[in-house]
Amino acid sequence: MLMKTVTLRNGVTVPALGMGTWNVGDSAARRTDEIESLRRGLEAGLRVIDTAEMYGNGRSETLVGEAIADVRDDVYLVSKVLPSNASYDGVRKACRRSLKHLGTDWLDLYLLHWRGGTPLEETIRAFEDLREEGLIGGWGVSNFDIDDMEEVESLSGSCLANQVLYNLEHRGTEFDLLEHDREEGTVTMAYSPLGQGGELLDHPALKEVASRHETSLGPADAAQIALAWVLRRPNVMAIPKAGSPKHVAGNLASLEIGLTAADLKTLDNAFPPPKRKVSLAMI
Ligand code: NDP
Repeated sequence: MLMKTVTLRNGVTVPALGMGTWNVGDSAARRTDEIESLRRGLEAGLRVIDTAEMYGNGRSETLVGEAIADVRDDVYLVSKVLPSNASYDGVRKACRRSLKHLGTDWLDLYLLHWRGGTPLEETIRAFEDLREEGLIGGWGVSNFDIDDMEEVESLSGSCLANQVLYNLEHRGTEFDLLEHDREEGTVTMAYSPLGQGGELLDHPALKEVASRHETSLGPADAAQIALAWVLRRPNVMAIPKAGSPKHVAGNLASLEIGLTAADLKTLDNAFPPPKRKVSLAMI
């Protein structure tokens, strides 16, 4: 399967389709399926796994650690520090705690989950020192709009990624932020690309477009169209969360779908692109 990739400014190239893990590890009944899903995705080449210290208070990181224990080198591992831990010492402690949960010696990418009260300069200094020490491969931010990104850029040229809400229901970033990040060499990681599995996947426009496509699994579905739509843009990754091997397989098959101009028109009519600046939405 042809895998779309993105290249981070530190020269590392990763598949544009990755895997999210919010709410993963919260239910004993789903645990086996959740681990199996991550394993299936990794075997199929989805290297990027996104987690955070916040998710289940470390339960997501612990499950991810279990899933990747014998294949750590094959994973591009992303975690996030809470704004409440974003002081110089706080970041350094939180990073070590996350590493312990994950059962690994390093994170490939460490993000500030959203902006809080700590001066960015202080958080970035902690990130840079962790990178020097080899505990993280690089750092980035999440839920940063243009003004925050400009501040980051004035402080450092090393921010690798900005993880933001981006799906058909939330297109505001198309007005400015996606292009800004691309021009600056910062990769966009689109979170909740499936609209959290809610109403988006029942939308008639997605179903109509899906009816025009086939994948190796059979007729395409709305989730695959939602993912193909996010992944159509350069410099953008998508990190859907799948809690079952069936959903991972479906998400992988989205890579086979090339949306046509007519498909994009159908989707634009149902979910109009922004005509003016929209403040960054977040979940
Ligand atoms: P998603 O848009 O990824 O949706 C997840 C939902 O979609 C789940 O209910 C899942 O069900 C369902 N689903 C997955 N695959 C399919 C499929 N092929 N067909 C039908 N349904 C499917 O929502 P998330 O909010 O989880 O976002 C993805 C990731 O982004 C998070 O897990 C997290 O890692 C990150 N994130 C980051 C944020 C930030 O502030 N930086 C905020 C929010 C998310 P099931 O579990 O049964 O497979």
